[in-house]
Amino acid sequence: MHYVSTRATSASAARNPQLFSDILLGGLAPDGGLYLPSEYPQVSGAELDAWRKLGYAELAYEILRKFATDIPDADLKALTARTYTADVYRNARAGESAAEITPLRVLEEGERGTLVLQALSNGPTLAFKDMAMQLLGNLFEYALAKNNDELNIFGATSGDTGSAAEYAMRGKRGVRVFMLSPHKKMSAFQTAQMFSLQDPNIYNIAVEGVFDDCQDLVKAVSNDLSFKARHKIGTVNSINWARVVAQVVYYFRGYLAATTSNEQKVSFTVPSGNFGNICAGHIARMMGLPIDKLVAATNENDVLDEFFRTGRYRVRKSSETFHTSSPSMDISKASNFERFVYELVGRDAQRTHDLFRKVETHGGFDLSGAPGSDGDEFQHVGKFGFQSGRSTHADRLATIRDAAQAYGIVIDTHTADGVKVAREHMQPGVPMIVLETALAAKFNETIVEALGKDADRPSGFENIEALPQRFVVMPAEVDRMKAYIAEHTGL
Ligand SMILES: *Cc1c(COP(=O)(O)O)cnc(C)c1O
Repeated sequence: MHYVSTRATSASAARNPQLFSDILLGGLAPDGGLYLPSEYPQVSGAELDAWRKLGYAELAYEILRKFATDIPDADLKALTARTYTADVYRNARAGESAAEITPLRVLEEGERGTLVLQALSNGPTLAFKDMAMQLLGNLFEYALAKNNDELNIFGATSGDTGSAAEYAMRGKRGVRVFMLSPHKKMSAFQTAQMFSLQDPNIYNIAVEGVFDDCQDLVKAVSNDLSFKARHKIGTVNSINWARVVAQVVYYFRGYLAATTSNEQKVSFTVPSGNFGNICAGHIARMMGLPIDKLVAATNENDVLDEFFRTGRYRVRKSSETFHTSSPSMDISKASNFERFVYELVGRDAQRTHDLFRKVETHGGFDLSGAPGSDGDEFQHVGKFGFQSGRSTHADRLATIRDAAQAYGIVIDTHTADGVKVAREHMQPGVPMIVLETALAAKFNETIVEALGKDADRPSGFENIEALPQRFVVMPAEVDRMKAYIAEHTGL
């Protein structure tokens, strides 16, 4: 299995196909594109039948070995077995089995169809990002040990990504994490989750400023290529290919758990921001999984909903990005979207390159086929099964209330966006699976607003705000940041 960049034109320096291990620790391809397999591995009906009997870790192994062909089978099997255990996914709620890792729960069954919730948030940080990040931690440790190398992950977070990365990398040999967050701007719960980690390889840096200041610091340090190389600086953002592929597994798992025969189809609704989660669903579908619809649910930041309704991709300025009550979906552009556009334009790398150039110069592109547009490929979007919808703060509150009343379950704000949009796309005979992306306890403020009471906290989280915290406060100054990193990498 080889990987190519979505912008691997004849002039590109990244034309040479890469192996899984070559792209594991990296992000963008050198030409600015994203990596994808040169072709998708196919799954036969016989294989799907055999996979119905497998536990989650075994299924993850079967799927990953199709993509990571350069990792010996025995090693991959050990890595997936260590990652997907009931011990890691221990936050399962009443009525759920932690051993299933991503248990399904039927919310509604009737004339309109069947609505199902797939739990993906039972890992250590109570959000679906653990599903991929926990595997990444083990893969990174494995790859670094093999090459006797080390890696210093440097990133900025306003919440979910940073904590998932830290819980995945804590105690891993060869890895340090330097995570910037805006000082006193995260919720008390999220701050406590990150800052209470006492592992010596985790460095929490509270920056005097806002999230954009943190991101600017990451960019400034990463743009100093010699500093970056000397200190072995890397990232774990959502474009990382291994993260995307780890997410493919739960689409298979959800399908197999919701059906009894491969003649049946299911649809998925996915609360979406950077298009990483739903991109994995698209890949599962391209591999032959019988998925009918993939429905992207957005909040008020509806870049993706606009595209799937109109064919126009229009990124927003950061000043136009709304701060919403589903904050992990507050994006101005969808960083994984290029992987789908590449497919939509028939895997034409030159065309993908030109379109995403236009995103930089003109803030977007238009594939609607209207006079003056950039093309008419949007007419083919139906064959990929995509649909979309959007949700607002008022919808979120109403959906949280209604789910509590009708289904007896408290859902988080992002999942509520998913449930709201899923209900608009249900169809008799095709189960609609909503991916739960976080537990309600993480976004308690809005739960209180909707229900007038606190969300339950899983055991072990009751008093995390009272735990001792380990972090440094720093001004938003590039030189100070570099000095801090240099001092702690010792390189
Ligand atoms: C990251 C995140 C999302 C968005 O996922 P994408 O892969 O960026 O589309 C949705 N909900 C929660 C809770 C998240 O943490």
